[in-house]
Amino acid sequence: MNKKPVALVTGGTRGIGLGIAVELAKSGFDVAVNGRRPESDVKNALDTIHSHGADAAYVRGDIGDDASRSAMLDALRQRFGRLDSLVNNAGVAPDVRADITETTEESYDRVMGINLRGPFFLTQAVARWMLKQKESDASFRGSIINVSSVSATVVSINRGEYCISKAGIAMATQLWAARLANDGIGVYEIRPGVIATDMTSGVKEKYDKLFAEGLTVEQRWGTPEDVGKAAAVLARGDLSYATGQVIMVDGGLTLPRL
Ligand code: NAD
Repeated sequence: MNKKPVALVTGGTRGIGLGIAVELAKSGFDVAVNGRRPESDVKNALDTIHSHGADAAYVRGDIGDDASRSAMLDALRQRFGRLDSLVNNAGVAPDVRADITETTEESYDRVMGINLRGPFFLTQAVARWMLKQKESDASFRGSIINVSSVSATVVSINRGEYCISKAGIAMATQLWAARLANDGIGVYEIRPGVIATDMTSGVKEKYDKLFAEGLTVEQRWGTPEDVGKAAAVLARGDLSYATGQVIMVDGGLTLPRL
């Protein structure tokens, strides 16, 4: 079995996921990242994680696909023999931002499949594995961290399916927190605000303007590192007696203000 604790970060080869993977590496985890690209395309990300002292592994697969999820966990069992932290980070925005009067069933199913159904069933499979680890080692401590979004509560009528998927992840967090609390497994939600990544690169000008007009109380874009640091605190178990909680990493976007 691997000596160091092991974390799996879905969608961990770029953006927020890579930010999380790096902070987990700095915190003493070996890190497996998942993504859909061939391994040859993610070498830089693996090197970056490795440069922070971690063994870095790549498990390719589509989070929305059952067979892919099983294959990924089989690969991790073979390679590390343990899993201490799961970060459900992979997610997509709708391909087209369409008013909810125009949302297509195809886009709804795609977004829900990757953002909600996939993480729910990956969590289920990982929870079963973690419970087995707990059975054979009473000192086992695990964590499951869901990256949702301020869109769990903040309405955007031009991407309703995304908002619904993130609201669903918020409930999934509470369900798994309640189910796993007495087994030494903490389950948390990180709710990022607007973070500078590929996902938001297409709406950069819009948000530059909104930041300047006071969208957040900290007047800047969030960074993958901001989210990564929060994930590391949770994965290390530094926030004890707090399972099920939401950590806002949004620069104060959701602070009620007059
Ligand atoms: P990104 O597009 O830069 O990265 C997402 C990663 O997930 C990519 O590596 C992508 O390949 C991977 N991915 C997508 N679908 C996948 C699938 N089916 N299987 C496996 N991997 C898949 O986006 P990001 O901004 O880094 O977003 C990461 C998470 O943070 C998402 O869940 C997103 O909803 C959430 N989030 C982002 C922001 C933001 O402003 N960028 C804000 C709040 C929440």
